[in-house]
Amino acid sequence: MTVGIHPFSAIDYHCNAQSNAIAVADDNSSYTFATLRKNAWQAVNGFKSLGLNSNDRISLICKNRYEVLVLLTAALLGGPVVVPINRRLTRSELSWIIKDAQSQCVVMDIETAELLADIDVATKLTLKDQAITPLNLGLCFSTWLEQQSAARSDIQLAADRDYLQVYTSGTSGFPKGVVLTEGNCVSQLVNVTLSLDVAILPGERMYQALPLFHVGGIFVSLMCLSRGATLILRSDFSPAATQKLISTEKLQHAALVPAMIQACTNLDADTNNSYKSLKSIFYGASPISESVLRAGHQHFNCDFVQIYGMTETHSVISVLGARDHQEIVNSVDSPLLGSAGRPILGTTVKLCNGEGDSVGNGKVGEIRVRSDLVMKEYWNNPEATEESIQDGYLLTGDIGRVDERGYLFVVDRLKDIIVSGGENIASLEVESVLMQHPAVADAAVIGAPHERWGEIVVAILVVNTEVDASDISNFARIYLSGFKIPKCIVFIDCIPRNAGGKILKRKLREIYAQPESTTKAAA
Ligand code: ATP
Ligand code: MG
Repeated sequence: MTVGIHPFSAIDYHCNAQSNAIAVADDNSSYTFATLRKNAWQAVNGFKSLGLNSNDRISLICKNRYEVLVLLTAALLGGPVVVPINRRLTRSELSWIIKDAQSQCVVMDIETAELLADIDVATKLTLKDQAITPLNLGLCFSTWLEQQSAARSDIQLAADRDYLQVYTSGTSGFPKGVVLTEGNCVSQLVNVTLSLDVAILPGERMYQALPLFHVGGIFVSLMCLSRGATLILRSDFSPAATQKLISTEKLQHAALVPAMIQACTNLDADTNNSYKSLKSIFYGASPISESVLRAGHQHFNCDFVQIYGMTETHSVISVLGARDHQEIVNSVDSPLLGSAGRPILGTTVKLCNGEGDSVGNGKVGEIRVRSDLVMKEYWNNPEATEESIQDGYLLTGDIGRVDERGYLFVVDRLKDIIVSGGENIASLEVESVLMQHPAVADAAVIGAPHERWGEIVVAILVVNTEVDASDISNFARIYLSGFKIPKCIVFIDCIPRNAGGKILKRKLREIYAQPESTTKAAA
Protein backbone atom coordinates (compact mmCIF):
# COMPACT_ATOMS: atom_id res chain seq x y z
CA MET A 1 0.00 0.00 0.00
CA THR A 2 1.26 3.48 -0.82
CA VAL A 3 0.92 5.82 2.12
CA GLY A 4 1.53 9.54 2.01
CA ILE A 5 0.66 12.60 0.00
CA HIS A 6 2.18 12.95 -3.42
CA PRO A 7 4.10 16.24 -3.74
CA PHE A 8 2.10 17.18 -6.86
CA SER A 9 -1.24 16.51 -5.20
CA ALA A 10 -1.33 19.92 -3.51
CA ILE A 11 -0.87 21.63 -6.88
CA ASP A 12 -3.45 19.27 -8.39
CA TYR A 13 -5.85 20.21 -5.60
CA HIS A 14 -5.53 23.91 -6.44
CA CYS A 15 -5.87 23.14 -10.17
CA ASN A 16 -9.29 21.72 -9.40
CA ALA A 17 -10.31 24.48 -7.03
CA GLN A 18 -9.08 27.46 -9.08
CA SER A 19 -8.04 26.21 -12.50
CA ASN A 20 -8.09 29.69 -14.06
CA ALA A 21 -6.05 31.32 -11.32
CA ILE A 22 -2.51 32.29 -12.34
CA ALA A 23 0.07 29.79 -11.11
CA VAL A 24 3.20 31.38 -12.59
CA ALA A 25 3.90 34.77 -14.12
CA ASP A 26 7.41 35.07 -15.54
CA ASP A 27 9.20 37.88 -17.43
CA ASN A 28 7.19 37.07 -20.56
CA SER A 29 3.76 35.72 -19.76
CA SER A 30 1.28 34.28 -17.23
CA TYR A 31 0.15 30.67 -16.94
CA THR A 32 -2.86 29.29 -15.08
CA PHE A 33 -2.88 26.28 -12.76
CA ALA A 34 -4.78 24.38 -15.47
CA THR A 35 -2.07 25.18 -18.05
CA LEU A 36 0.69 24.17 -15.65
CA ARG A 37 -0.98 20.82 -15.01
CA LYS A 38 -1.59 20.24 -18.71
CA ASN A 39 1.98 21.18 -19.67
CA ALA A 40 3.44 19.01 -16.92
CA TRP A 41 1.58 15.93 -18.20
CA GLN A 42 2.53 16.82 -21.79
CA ALA A 43 6.17 16.89 -20.72
CA VAL A 44 5.82 13.51 -18.95
CA ASN A 45 4.21 11.92 -22.02
CA GLY A 46 6.55 13.68 -24.46
CA PHE A 47 9.71 12.50 -22.73
CA LYS A 48 8.27 8.99 -22.53
CA SER A 49 7.76 8.99 -26.30
CA LEU A 50 11.38 10.13 -26.72
CA GLY A 51 12.36 7.02 -24.77
CA LEU A 52 13.32 8.88 -21.62
CA ASN A 53 12.31 7.10 -18.44
CA SER A 54 11.79 8.35 -14.93
CA ASN A 55 15.34 7.42 -13.98
CA ASP A 56 16.99 9.24 -16.89
CA ARG A 57 18.46 12.69 -16.35
CA ILE A 58 17.69 15.86 -18.29
CA SER A 59 19.91 18.87 -17.80
CA LEU A 60 18.16 22.21 -17.73
CA ILE A 61 20.14 25.37 -18.40
CA CYS A 62 18.15 28.56 -18.62
CA LYS A 63 17.03 31.72 -16.88
CA ASN A 64 14.23 31.62 -14.31
CA ARG A 65 11.17 30.99 -16.45
CA TYR A 66 7.88 29.13 -16.44
CA GLU A 67 9.21 26.06 -18.27
CA VAL A 68 11.46 25.22 -15.31
CA LEU A 69 8.33 24.70 -13.21
CA VAL A 70 6.81 22.56 -15.97
CA LEU A 71 9.85 20.27 -15.94
CA LEU A 72 10.08 20.13 -12.15
CA THR A 73 6.42 19.20 -11.79
CA ALA A 74 6.75 16.72 -14.67
CA ALA A 75 9.65 15.12 -12.79
CA LEU A 76 7.39 14.73 -9.76
CA LEU A 77 4.83 13.02 -12.00
CA GLY A 78 7.25 10.37 -13.26
CA GLY A 79 9.07 12.35 -15.94
CA PRO A 80 12.87 12.30 -16.14
CA VAL A 81 14.96 13.60 -13.24
CA VAL A 82 15.71 17.32 -13.66
CA VAL A 83 19.30 18.53 -13.30
CA PRO A 84 19.09 22.34 -13.21
CA ILE A 85 22.44 24.00 -13.92
CA ASN A 86 23.68 27.55 -13.42
CA ARG A 87 23.76 29.09 -16.89
CA ARG A 88 26.56 31.44 -15.88
CA LEU A 89 29.04 28.59 -15.52
CA THR A 90 31.77 28.37 -18.11
CA ARG A 91 31.43 26.09 -21.10
CA SER A 92 33.72 23.49 -19.55
CA GLU A 93 31.94 23.59 -16.18
CA LEU A 94 28.57 23.13 -17.92
CA SER A 95 29.88 20.22 -19.97
CA TRP A 96 31.39 18.64 -16.87
CA ILE A 97 28.02 18.64 -15.05
CA ILE A 98 26.07 17.45 -18.11
CA LYS A 99 28.48 14.54 -18.45
CA ASP A 100 28.71 13.81 -14.72
CA ALA A 101 24.90 13.60 -14.54
CA GLN A 102 24.86 11.34 -17.62
CA SER A 103 22.15 13.54 -19.07
CA GLN A 104 20.18 12.05 -21.94
CA CYS A 105 18.76 15.38 -22.97
CA VAL A 106 19.58 19.04 -22.49
CA VAL A 107 16.88 21.66 -22.35
CA MET A 108 18.28 25.15 -22.65
CA ASP A 109 17.62 28.70 -23.70
CA ILE A 110 18.94 29.97 -26.96
CA GLU A 111 22.09 31.70 -25.64
CA THR A 112 23.20 28.50 -23.95
CA ALA A 113 22.33 26.48 -27.02
CA GLU A 114 24.90 28.51 -28.94
CA LEU A 115 27.51 27.97 -26.26
CA LEU A 116 26.97 24.23 -26.19
CA ALA A 117 26.52 23.65 -29.91
CA ASP A 118 28.81 20.62 -30.00
CA ILE A 119 27.86 18.91 -26.75
CA ASP A 120 27.18 15.24 -27.30
CA VAL A 121 23.78 14.37 -25.86
CA ALA A 122 20.98 12.42 -27.43
CA THR A 123 18.42 15.21 -27.60
CA LYS A 124 18.53 18.96 -27.33
CA LEU A 125 15.42 21.01 -26.83
CA THR A 126 15.70 24.75 -26.93
CA LEU A 127 13.58 27.19 -24.98
CA LYS A 128 12.67 29.67 -27.67
CA ASP A 129 9.32 30.39 -29.18
CA GLN A 130 10.41 29.70 -32.72
CA ALA A 131 10.14 26.45 -34.59
CA ILE A 132 13.70 26.59 -35.88
CA THR A 133 16.49 28.12 -33.87
CA PRO A 134 19.33 29.93 -35.65
CA LEU A 135 21.57 26.93 -35.06
CA ASN A 136 18.87 24.45 -35.94
CA LEU A 137 19.78 22.63 -32.77
CA GLY A 138 16.61 20.71 -32.45
CA LEU A 139 13.06 21.29 -31.48
CA CYS A 140 11.59 24.35 -29.94
CA PHE A 141 10.40 23.35 -26.49
CA SER A 142 6.97 24.98 -26.46
CA THR A 143 6.12 23.78 -29.97
CA TRP A 144 7.25 20.29 -29.03
CA LEU A 145 5.24 20.42 -25.80
CA GLU A 146 2.03 21.37 -27.60
CA GLN A 147 2.35 18.30 -29.82
CA GLN A 148 2.32 15.93 -26.85
CA SER A 149 -0.60 14.13 -25.27
CA ALA A 150 -1.92 15.70 -22.07
CA ALA A 151 -3.32 12.37 -20.82
CA ARG A 152 -3.06 12.05 -17.05
CA SER A 153 -2.22 8.92 -15.11
CA ASP A 154 -2.79 8.02 -11.48
CA ILE A 155 -0.39 9.79 -9.17
CA GLN A 156 1.03 7.78 -6.34
CA LEU A 157 3.89 8.59 -4.07
CA ALA A 158 7.09 6.67 -4.79
CA ALA A 159 9.06 8.10 -1.89
CA ASP A 160 12.42 6.70 -3.05
CA ARG A 161 12.13 7.84 -6.66
CA ASP A 162 14.64 10.49 -7.73
CA TYR A 163 13.10 13.65 -9.17
CA LEU A 164 15.81 16.26 -8.83
CA GLN A 165 19.58 16.33 -8.97
CA VAL A 166 21.06 19.62 -7.85
CA TYR A 167 24.74 20.42 -7.83
CA THR A 168 25.95 22.08 -4.62
CA SER A 169 27.13 25.68 -4.87
CA GLY A 170 30.76 24.59 -4.84
CA THR A 171 31.46 27.17 -2.14
CA SER A 172 33.90 24.98 -0.26
CA GLY A 173 35.00 22.52 -2.93
CA PHE A 174 34.05 20.98 -6.24
CA PRO A 175 30.24 20.82 -6.75
CA LYS A 176 28.62 17.46 -6.00
CA GLY A 177 25.40 16.14 -7.55
CA VAL A 178 22.83 15.79 -4.78
CA VAL A 179 20.10 13.25 -5.57
CA LEU A 180 16.72 14.24 -4.11
CA THR A 181 13.55 12.15 -4.07
CA GLU A 182 9.80 12.61 -4.14
CA GLY A 183 9.86 11.67 -0.45
CA ASN A 184 12.33 14.49 0.31
CA CYS A 185 10.09 16.92 -1.56
CA VAL A 186 6.85 16.00 0.15
CA SER A 187 8.45 15.96 3.62
CA GLN A 188 9.87 19.39 2.96
CA LEU A 189 6.57 20.88 1.79
CA VAL A 190 4.50 19.40 4.61
CA ASN A 191 6.96 19.89 7.44
CA VAL A 192 7.90 23.47 6.55
CA THR A 193 4.27 24.47 6.13
CA LEU A 194 3.46 23.01 9.57
CA SER A 195 6.44 24.75 11.14
CA LEU A 196 5.82 28.24 9.76
CA ASP A 197 4.08 30.99 11.72
CA VAL A 198 3.18 32.96 8.60
CA ALA A 199 0.61 31.87 6.05
CA ILE A 200 0.80 31.93 2.27
CA LEU A 201 -2.80 31.83 1.08
CA PRO A 202 -4.44 30.82 -2.20
CA GLY A 203 -4.73 33.86 -4.42
CA GLU A 204 -1.77 35.67 -2.83
CA ARG A 205 1.34 36.39 -4.86
CA MET A 206 5.02 35.82 -4.16
CA TYR A 207 8.00 37.57 -5.76
CA GLN A 208 10.75 35.07 -6.53
CA ALA A 209 14.07 35.97 -8.16
CA LEU A 210 16.18 33.28 -6.45
CA PRO A 211 17.80 31.13 -9.11
CA LEU A 212 15.95 27.93 -9.94
CA PHE A 213 19.19 25.96 -10.17
CA HIS A 214 19.52 26.04 -6.37
CA VAL A 215 17.23 24.18 -4.00
CA GLY A 216 16.24 27.40 -2.20
CA GLY A 217 14.56 28.82 -5.31
CA ILE A 218 13.02 25.46 -6.21
CA PHE A 219 11.64 24.89 -2.72
CA VAL A 220 10.13 28.38 -2.38
CA SER A 221 8.50 28.05 -5.81
CA LEU A 222 6.98 24.63 -5.08
CA MET A 223 5.80 25.80 -1.66
CA CYS A 224 4.08 28.81 -3.23
CA LEU A 225 2.30 26.69 -5.86
CA SER A 226 1.36 24.03 -3.30
CA ARG A 227 -0.39 26.74 -1.32
CA GLY A 228 -2.38 27.79 -4.38
CA ALA A 229 -0.55 31.11 -4.52
CA THR A 230 0.89 32.78 -7.63
CA LEU A 231 4.60 32.72 -8.28
CA ILE A 232 5.90 35.98 -9.73
CA LEU A 233 9.12 34.67 -11.23
CA ARG A 234 11.90 37.02 -12.31
CA SER A 235 15.09 36.11 -14.15
CA ASP A 236 17.12 39.06 -12.86
CA PHE A 237 17.19 40.92 -9.60
CA SER A 238 17.46 44.66 -9.23
CA PRO A 239 16.41 46.46 -6.03
CA ALA A 240 14.56 49.22 -7.87
CA ALA A 241 12.63 46.80 -10.09
CA THR A 242 11.76 44.68 -7.04
CA GLN A 243 10.43 47.67 -5.15
CA LYS A 244 8.41 48.82 -8.16
CA LEU A 245 6.97 45.36 -8.77
CA ILE A 246 5.95 44.82 -5.14
CA SER A 247 4.43 48.26 -4.97
CA THR A 248 2.55 48.39 -8.28
CA GLU A 249 1.44 44.75 -8.29
CA LYS A 250 0.68 44.79 -4.56
CA LEU A 251 2.49 41.52 -3.84
CA GLN A 252 2.10 39.84 -0.45
CA HIS A 253 5.32 37.79 -0.18
CA ALA A 254 8.91 37.88 -1.39
CA ALA A 255 11.81 35.42 -1.33
CA LEU A 256 15.23 37.09 -1.08
CA VAL A 257 18.76 36.41 0.12
CA PRO A 258 20.47 38.73 2.66
CA ALA A 259 22.52 40.45 -0.07
CA MET A 260 19.26 41.32 -1.89
CA ILE A 261 17.69 42.63 1.34
CA GLN A 262 20.75 44.81 1.87
CA ALA A 263 20.62 46.13 -1.70
CA CYS A 264 16.94 47.05 -1.22
CA THR A 265 17.62 48.89 2.03
CA ASN A 266 19.93 51.25 0.15
CA LEU A 267 16.90 52.55 -1.76
CA ASP A 268 14.67 55.27 -0.43
CA ALA A 269 11.31 53.82 0.38
CA ASP A 270 8.12 55.26 1.58
CA THR A 271 7.41 52.08 3.52
CA ASN A 272 3.77 52.90 3.96
CA ASN A 273 3.27 53.06 0.23
CA SER A 274 6.01 51.03 -1.45
CA TYR A 275 5.47 47.87 0.57
CA LYS A 276 1.98 48.37 1.94
CA SER A 277 0.76 45.02 0.55
CA LEU A 278 3.77 43.03 1.76
CA LYS A 279 3.05 40.46 4.49
CA SER A 280 6.27 38.46 4.65
CA ILE A 281 9.82 38.10 3.40
CA PHE A 282 11.48 34.69 3.32
CA TYR A 283 15.27 34.83 3.30
CA GLY A 284 18.22 32.49 3.78
CA ALA A 285 21.13 30.76 2.02
CA SER A 286 23.73 32.77 3.90
CA PRO A 287 24.02 34.47 7.29
CA ILE A 288 22.44 37.86 7.80
CA SER A 289 24.22 40.51 9.86
CA GLU A 290 22.42 42.32 12.65
CA SER A 291 22.67 45.64 10.83
CA VAL A 292 21.14 44.27 7.61
CA LEU A 293 18.38 42.49 9.56
CA ARG A 294 17.40 45.62 11.47
CA ALA A 295 17.63 47.84 8.38
CA GLY A 296 15.60 45.29 6.41
CA HIS A 297 12.85 45.23 9.02
CA GLN A 298 12.65 48.98 9.07
CA HIS A 299 12.68 49.20 5.28
CA PHE A 300 10.06 46.56 4.47
CA ASN A 301 8.01 46.75 7.67
CA CYS A 302 6.59 43.22 7.35
CA ASP A 303 7.13 39.75 8.83
CA PHE A 304 10.51 38.10 8.24
CA VAL A 305 11.19 34.36 8.11
CA GLN A 306 14.73 33.01 7.98
CA ILE A 307 15.55 29.65 6.47
CA TYR A 308 18.71 27.69 7.16
CA GLY A 309 19.37 24.71 4.97
CA MET A 310 21.39 23.16 2.23
CA THR A 311 21.18 21.27 -1.04
CA GLU A 312 21.66 17.96 0.76
CA THR A 313 18.42 18.51 2.74
CA HIS A 314 16.25 19.71 -0.15
CA SER A 315 16.66 23.17 1.39
CA VAL A 316 15.14 23.86 4.81
CA ILE A 317 16.55 22.44 8.06
CA SER A 318 15.42 25.16 10.44
CA VAL A 319 13.21 28.22 10.44
CA LEU A 320 13.45 31.44 12.44
CA GLY A 321 9.84 32.56 12.40
CA ALA A 322 8.03 35.88 12.29
CA ARG A 323 7.47 35.98 16.05
CA ASP A 324 11.16 35.27 16.66
CA HIS A 325 12.03 38.22 14.43
CA GLN A 326 9.64 40.44 16.39
CA GLU A 327 11.46 39.41 19.58
CA ILE A 328 14.78 40.38 17.95
CA VAL A 329 13.76 43.77 16.57
CA ASN A 330 11.95 44.78 19.73
CA SER A 331 15.05 44.37 21.87
CA VAL A 332 18.62 45.68 21.69
CA ASP A 333 20.25 42.39 22.53
CA SER A 334 17.78 39.55 22.13
CA PRO A 335 19.31 36.11 22.77
CA LEU A 336 17.82 35.08 19.40
CA LEU A 337 20.06 37.50 17.52
CA GLY A 338 22.17 35.46 15.11
CA SER A 339 19.95 32.39 15.37
CA ALA A 340 18.85 30.31 12.40
CA GLY A 341 15.70 29.25 14.25
CA ARG A 342 14.39 25.89 15.35
CA PRO A 343 14.65 22.66 13.34
CA ILE A 344 11.44 22.09 11.39
CA LEU A 345 9.05 19.29 12.28
CA GLY A 346 10.41 15.80 11.69
CA THR A 347 14.02 16.99 11.80
CA THR A 348 16.50 16.13 14.55
CA VAL A 349 19.67 18.14 14.92
CA LYS A 350 22.63 17.06 17.02
CA LEU A 351 25.98 18.73 17.51
CA CYS A 352 29.06 16.56 17.45
CA ASN A 353 32.78 16.79 18.05
CA GLY A 354 35.35 15.47 15.59
CA GLU A 355 34.86 11.92 16.89
CA GLY A 356 31.13 12.03 16.22
CA ASP A 357 30.11 12.23 19.89
CA SER A 358 27.40 14.67 20.94
CA VAL A 359 28.68 17.78 22.68
CA GLY A 360 26.73 19.14 25.65
CA ASN A 361 23.92 21.69 25.44
CA GLY A 362 25.13 25.14 24.50
CA LYS A 363 28.48 23.79 23.26
CA VAL A 364 29.73 24.23 19.73
CA GLY A 365 29.96 21.24 17.39
CA GLU A 366 29.30 20.11 13.84
CA ILE A 367 25.61 20.29 12.91
CA ARG A 368 24.32 16.81 12.04
CA VAL A 369 20.78 16.28 10.77
CA ARG A 370 18.46 13.26 10.73
CA SER A 371 15.29 13.70 8.70
CA ASP A 372 13.26 12.47 5.71
CA LEU A 373 14.65 15.56 4.02
CA VAL A 374 18.15 14.17 3.76
CA MET A 375 19.25 13.34 0.20
CA LYS A 376 19.45 9.81 -1.09
CA GLU A 377 23.11 10.14 -2.12
CA TYR A 378 25.77 12.09 -3.93
CA TRP A 379 25.43 11.04 -7.55
CA ASN A 380 28.02 8.46 -8.57
CA ASN A 381 30.08 9.18 -5.50
CA PRO A 382 29.59 6.44 -2.87
CA GLU A 383 32.70 7.50 -0.92
CA ALA A 384 31.42 11.06 -0.49
CA THR A 385 27.95 9.70 0.44
CA GLU A 386 29.44 7.40 3.05
CA GLU A 387 31.50 10.23 4.52
CA SER A 388 28.49 12.54 4.65
CA ILE A 389 25.78 10.28 6.04
CA GLN A 390 26.80 8.43 9.19
CA ASP A 391 24.44 6.53 11.52
CA GLY A 392 21.48 8.06 9.70
CA TYR A 393 22.73 11.61 10.25
CA LEU A 394 23.90 14.03 7.55
CA LEU A 395 27.16 15.78 8.40
CA THR A 396 26.44 19.33 7.27
CA GLY A 397 29.99 20.72 7.35
CA ASP A 398 28.59 23.65 9.36
CA ILE A 399 29.31 24.20 13.00
CA GLY A 400 26.81 25.58 15.41
CA ARG A 401 25.26 25.47 18.83
CA VAL A 402 21.76 25.01 20.23
CA ASP A 403 20.47 27.13 23.11
CA GLU A 404 18.28 25.95 26.00
CA ARG A 405 15.10 26.79 24.02
CA GLY A 406 16.20 24.60 21.11
CA TYR A 407 17.24 27.45 18.81
CA LEU A 408 20.08 26.67 16.44
CA PHE A 409 22.94 29.10 15.83
CA VAL A 410 25.17 28.57 12.79
CA VAL A 411 28.64 29.58 13.97
CA ASP A 412 30.52 29.06 10.71
CA ARG A 413 31.40 26.55 8.05
CA LEU A 414 34.01 24.11 9.35
CA LYS A 415 36.22 25.05 6.40
CA ASP A 416 35.95 28.79 7.16
CA ILE A 417 37.02 28.57 10.80
CA ILE A 418 40.32 30.38 11.30
CA VAL A 419 42.85 28.86 13.68
CA SER A 420 45.20 31.54 14.97
CA GLY A 421 47.72 30.92 17.77
CA GLY A 422 45.77 27.74 18.64
CA GLU A 423 42.46 29.62 19.03
CA ASN A 424 39.41 28.91 16.83
CA ILE A 425 37.87 32.02 15.31
CA ALA A 426 34.52 32.00 13.52
CA SER A 427 34.80 34.18 10.44
CA LEU A 428 31.06 34.94 10.71
CA GLU A 429 31.44 36.47 14.18
CA VAL A 430 34.16 38.85 12.99
CA GLU A 431 32.13 39.73 9.86
CA SER A 432 29.04 40.55 11.88
CA VAL A 433 31.01 42.91 14.14
CA LEU A 434 32.67 44.66 11.19
CA MET A 435 29.28 45.10 9.52
CA GLN A 436 28.19 47.20 12.50
CA HIS A 437 30.80 49.87 11.71
CA PRO A 438 28.89 52.74 10.05
CA ALA A 439 31.36 52.97 7.15
CA VAL A 440 31.28 49.25 6.31
CA ALA A 441 28.85 48.26 3.56
CA ASP A 442 30.02 44.65 3.15
CA ALA A 443 32.58 42.40 4.82
CA ALA A 444 34.25 39.06 4.31
CA VAL A 445 36.71 37.51 6.74
CA ILE A 446 39.19 34.78 5.87
CA GLY A 447 42.29 33.19 7.38
CA ALA A 448 45.68 33.60 5.75
CA PRO A 449 48.66 31.34 6.51
CA HIS A 450 51.18 32.91 8.88
CA GLU A 451 54.57 31.62 10.09
CA ARG A 452 54.11 32.52 13.73
CA TRP A 453 50.37 32.25 14.32
CA GLY A 454 49.44 29.46 11.90
CA GLU A 455 46.77 31.70 10.43
CA ILE A 456 45.86 35.34 10.83
CA VAL A 457 42.52 37.06 10.41
CA VAL A 458 42.17 39.03 7.18
CA ALA A 459 39.18 41.35 6.68
CA ILE A 460 38.12 42.31 3.19
CA LEU A 461 35.84 45.31 3.28
CA VAL A 462 33.65 47.42 1.07
CA VAL A 463 33.19 50.87 2.61
CA ASN A 464 30.78 53.68 1.83
CA THR A 465 32.98 56.51 3.13
CA GLU A 466 36.71 56.87 3.47
CA VAL A 467 37.95 55.26 6.68
CA ASP A 468 41.32 54.24 8.14
CA ALA A 469 42.15 50.59 8.80
CA SER A 470 43.13 51.64 12.34
CA ASP A 471 39.65 53.05 12.89
CA ILE A 472 38.16 49.70 11.90
CA SER A 473 40.55 47.80 14.21
CA ASN A 474 39.75 50.09 17.14
CA PHE A 475 36.04 49.55 16.54
CA ALA A 476 36.48 45.75 16.36
CA ARG A 477 38.46 45.86 19.63
CA ILE A 478 35.35 47.07 21.49
CA TYR A 479 33.51 43.83 20.69
CA LEU A 480 36.15 41.18 20.00
CA SER A 481 39.02 39.59 21.94
CA GLY A 482 42.49 40.57 20.74
CA PHE A 483 43.18 37.36 18.81
CA LYS A 484 40.02 37.89 16.71
CA ILE A 485 40.93 41.41 15.55
CA PRO A 486 41.84 41.43 11.85
CA LYS A 487 45.62 41.71 11.44
CA CYS A 488 45.22 42.74 7.85
CA ILE A 489 42.46 44.87 6.34
CA VAL A 490 41.94 45.15 2.61
CA PHE A 491 39.50 47.56 0.94
CA ILE A 492 37.88 46.45 -2.30
CA ASP A 493 34.95 47.62 -4.46
CA CYS A 494 32.76 44.55 -4.31
CA ILE A 495 32.82 41.24 -2.44
CA PRO A 496 32.45 38.36 -4.90
CA ARG A 497 29.27 36.33 -4.32
CA ASN A 498 27.64 33.50 -6.19
CA ALA A 499 24.11 33.60 -7.64
CA GLY A 500 22.71 32.51 -4.28
CA GLY A 501 24.36 35.46 -2.51
CA LYS A 502 27.08 33.37 -0.82
CA ILE A 503 30.51 34.95 -0.40
CA LEU A 504 33.08 33.19 -2.58
CA LYS A 505 35.69 32.75 0.16
CA ARG A 506 37.71 30.28 -1.88
CA LYS A 507 38.22 32.99 -4.47
CA LEU A 508 39.11 35.57 -1.81
CA ARG A 509 41.64 33.18 -0.28
CA GLU A 510 43.34 32.71 -3.66
CA ILE A 511 43.85 36.47 -3.88
CA TYR A 512 44.17 37.75 -0.33
CA ALA A 513 45.38 34.80 1.72
CA GLN A 514 48.88 34.60 0.28
CA PRO A 515 51.58 34.73 2.98
CA GLU A 516 53.51 37.53 1.24
CA SER A 517 50.44 39.80 1.11
CA THR A 518 49.72 39.59 4.82
CA THR A 519 52.92 38.78 6.71
CA LYS A 520 54.11 42.38 6.80
CA ALA A 521 50.80 43.71 8.02
CA ALA A 522 50.63 41.12 10.78
CA ALA A 523 54.18 41.33 12.05
P1 ATP B 1 29.44 23.30 -1.31
O1 ATP B 1 28.77 22.29 -0.43
O2 ATP B 1 29.69 22.81 -2.69
O3 ATP B 1 30.62 23.96 -0.66
P2 ATP B 1 27.38 25.16 -0.48
O4 ATP B 1 27.45 24.47 0.85
O5 ATP B 1 27.57 26.66 -0.46
O6 ATP B 1 28.40 24.51 -1.53
P3 ATP B 1 24.51 25.02 -0.63
O7 ATP B 1 23.97 23.69 -0.33
O8 ATP B 1 23.83 25.87 -1.66
O9 ATP B 1 25.99 24.86 -1.16
O10 ATP B 1 24.59 25.92 0.67
C1 ATP B 1 24.35 25.42 1.97
C2 ATP B 1 25.17 26.19 2.99
O11 ATP B 1 24.80 27.58 3.01
C3 ATP B 1 24.96 25.71 4.39
O12 ATP B 1 25.72 24.55 4.67
C4 ATP B 1 25.39 26.94 5.21
O13 ATP B 1 26.81 26.99 5.32
C5 ATP B 1 24.94 28.11 4.33
N1 ATP B 1 23.63 28.63 4.81
C6 ATP B 1 22.42 28.39 4.29
N2 ATP B 1 21.45 29.04 4.95
C7 ATP B 1 22.06 29.74 5.93
C8 ATP B 1 21.60 30.60 6.99
N3 ATP B 1 20.32 30.91 7.15
N4 ATP B 1 22.53 31.09 7.84
C9 ATP B 1 23.84 30.79 7.70
N5 ATP B 1 24.35 29.99 6.72
C10 ATP B 1 23.46 29.47 5.85
MG1 MG C 1 27.69 22.46 1.31
